[in-house]
Amino acid sequence: MDVKTCATCGEAKDLTEFRKAPTCRDGLTTSCKTCLNAAYRAWYAANAEKKHAAASASYQARKDKINAHRRAQRAEQKQATASE
Ligand SMILES: [Zn+2]
Repeated sequence: MDVKTCATCGEAKDLTEFRKAPTCRDGLTTSCKTCLNAAYRAWYAANAEKKHAAASASYQARKDKINAHRRAQRAEQKQATASE
């Protein structure tokens, strides 16, 4: 069984204890799932409010653009089907 040492807790754990990370050299995160979860929970507790506000603002900003794009796509599809 392959193991990898977690950069955060320093424990050697099974590869299944690490999340996939395509951008990392070995394709896995440097910290184990347990450490990532703990770090995320701590980060989330500190940033939940901020994150929520930012996500909501960026969604609102994108929404109109996305809707317009979808409408255009639908219109195009309709035209394509009509001309067949
Ligand atoms: Zn760890």
